[in-house]
Amino acid sequence: MDSTDIPSTIPVNENIVNDKPVCIHWFRHGLRLHDNPALLDAVEDCGELYPIFIFDGEVAGTRTAGYNRMRFLLESLHDLDDHFSNEGGRLFVFTGNVLTTLSNLFKEWSVSKLTFDADVEAIWHERDTQVRRLCEKYNVECVEKVSHVLWDPEEILKNNGGTPPLTYSLFNLVATAVGDPPRPVDAPDLSKVTFNVKSDHEKFEEQNQRFNIWTGGESKALELFQYRMKVEEMAFSCGNVMPNQAFPNIAGPPLSMSAHLRFGCLSIRKLYWGLRDAYLKLNPGKAFTVSAIGQLMWREYFYMMSVNNKNYDKMESNPICLNIPWYEDKEKLRRWEQGETGYPWIDAIMKQLKNEGWIHHVCRHATSTFLTRGDLGLSWEDGLKVFDKYLIDADWSVNAGNWMWMSSSAFEKVLQCPKCFCPVRYGRKMDSNGVYVRRYLPVLKDMPIRYLFEPWKAPRSVQEKAGCIIGVDYPEPMHCGPANSDEVSKFVWLPGTHKGNCSSGNEELSEAILCDGLMGMSPQMKRGPGRCGGDDSN
Ligand code: FAD
Ligand code: MG
Repeated sequence: MDSTDIPSTIPVNENIVNDKPVCIHWFRHGLRLHDNPALLDAVEDCGELYPIFIFDGEVAGTRTAGYNRMRFLLESLHDLDDHFSNEGGRLFVFTGNVLTTLSNLFKEWSVSKLTFDADVEAIWHERDTQVRRLCEKYNVECVEKVSHVLWDPEEILKNNGGTPPLTYSLFNLVATAVGDPPRPVDAPDLSKVTFNVKSDHEKFEEQNQRFNIWTGGESKALELFQYRMKVEEMAFSCGNVMPNQAFPNIAGPPLSMSAHLRFGCLSIRKLYWGLRDAYLKLNPGKAFTVSAIGQLMWREYFYMMSVNNKNYDKMESNPICLNIPWYEDKEKLRRWEQGETGYPWIDAIMKQLKNEGWIHHVCRHATSTFLTRGDLGLSWEDGLKVFDKYLIDADWSVNAGNWMWMSSSAFEKVLQCPKCFCPVRYGRKMDSNGVYVRRYLPVLKDMPIRYLFEPWKAPRSVQEKAGCIIGVDYPEPMHCGPANSDEVSKFVWLPGTHKGNCSSGNEELSEAILCDGLMGMSPQMKRGPGRCGGDDSN
């Protein structure tokens, strides 16, 4: 149904059914029934419930979403619709402006209460202020609850003198002072809810299934959660934490929950408390520290840092971001985005990103540093836009936070970590048998492992035998790293950056470079010269 289809002259009635309010629950993030306090509030006290979603061209990142993220969103909406249908209800989906749609619905359905999960990111503040005003105008009670992040950012701000805690360690201190995040709430009992179902529910179009390896929706999220808990429990009982980052399996099956967290198909509090309870059970007597759930704290930190900063995803006009004279080179950017740099490790990553919509953290790290301070010297904002288009988990705060971090544009410590990254040795280390590169670059499938990560070095006869002539079937490597002192001087904000050309074959230098490239990986991997950052490594 299009909001413009709603007739403009609508009889207003008494807003009450069976002495209880008629309620709209508006889904934006939080596409789930479990741990959804705003939905619970709606269900507990309503005469009639209308669950809705509005495609306004912005919500849930739809303005920039590529095919994979859009499909994930549609699947998540389908899943919600299934849940409501099982209880005799449905999810109503509209297209159009939020304020027009809501005001039409308020009148059409005689609504007296609106509930939604709070969107804490700065980009949504204006929309939600207007929605609250609209509610006042129509005398509709507006109930908003925070459950997309562990701590209510307002609480964190209050406990830090009204400003966001600027460093990750300070954030952890403040969060500890605020106290434990709330435990997840139960899923609502929909069997008692009265739904008013209309029959014009459109079905989403079926699309090309070729690269669909991720499935959206709460049902899938909860299934993955169960599996993931087993993996984490195994790690805890062996004395490890964060197994996914400690032992990166870049070519492994699709088990990540980042897109589910991004759309709120899985509650962050359910994951946090699941991990925390398991840790304490398996490590009796040990204190729980955030290092056991460091990744979730990074998510929280990046959300927190963006909460009052509308320009968080920009360089200029963003007070926490250094202004860096990045190069502008459309052709280099295009080759990077298309996976045509000539460096198989980077190109395989970009092909996986474009086709499947998700890449492992190690791969994000490799390709983002390659684009920015590591090799090409192009702006992180360009990289962010590409990630924003293709990632199923692309998240306004988390994406920008990580790009600033990776490009040494903001946040502590990494600014003193000015090494470049060798796209050859980094790839060899992470994909030692070449399974990953061969999967995403089938043109190189017969290239011997010795040359797989630098195929331009393969003798012509080897290239012919492999059926891949460099410069014809697969590109020559593009220039990477600054060529002369002039270029180096552009990067003086990072003393010591770009000590050499990454493809120079200087093994000693490359080793140092590689070790720096693995911040945040397992302790075994972190060993080696040149590493910077401590436990705070992202
Ligand atoms: P796990 O290691 O199992 O972590 C569990 C959860 O913690 C993740 O699902 C995610 O929600 C959170 N998390 C993990 N690492 C980070 C991190 N570094 N920062 C913030 N949260 C984290 N993640 C996104 O969810 N959305 C993004 O848009 C995004 N953009 C990124 C951009 C760049 C340049 C980089 C380097 C990383 C980005 N990440 C982003 C972070 C990270 O790579 C993914 O969250 C992770 O790969 C997801 O895999 P997982 O669920 O198996 O992670
Ligand atoms: Mg700035």
